[in-house]
Amino acid sequence: MITSRDRYSARVDMKMINRMIDTFIISYTTCPTCGFDEFTQSGKNPDCPTCNGTGKIEIKTKRIIYGRISWPNLTDVIIGIVGTIDSGDAILYTAMTNRTHFNNLKTSGYIIIGSERYGIKSISTAGLGEADELAVLCSRQTE
Ligand SMILES: [Zn+2]
Repeated sequence: MITSRDRYSARVDMKMINRMIDTFIISYTTCPTCGFDEFTQSGKNPDCPTCNGTGKIEIKTKRIIYGRISWPNLTDVIIGIVGTIDSGDAILYTAMTNRTHFNNLKTSGYIIIGSERYGIKSISTAGLGEADELAVLCSRQTE
C-alpha cells in the first residue's frame, strides 16, 4: 500500500547526479532600431535587420542553480511528481528557495542539462519526512 509519506522517500532509490545547471529566463524588449507598433503587433519597419520585423528583441537572463538530476525509467513508480513522465524526461531536485525562479522558467524560459535544452513541465515538492525540496519535471526541447 502506498501512503502519503512514500512520496518523500521515492527519490532515494533513483540514481542522482549533482551539478550546477544553467537556467535562462526569456523576456522581450522593444526593438531599439525601429520600435514596436502596438496596432500591428510587429516592428515599425518590417525589414528591420535588428528585429527581423518583429519589433521585439529577445533577452535571455542566465542564472546558475544547484540541483540533482535523474532520468527515470518509465517503469519506475515515482510518486509525488505532477504530470505525466514521458520518455527522455528528467527530474531536477533543487532548493525550495528556487520556487519563484522555476515558476518563471515554466512560464518563459528553459534550462540546459548537459548540452540539451529542457522546458519545465511541472513543479512539485519533495523531501525526506517533510517537503524541503522542489521536484521539477523537465522535458527535452528541440530549438
Ligand atoms: Zn526592429
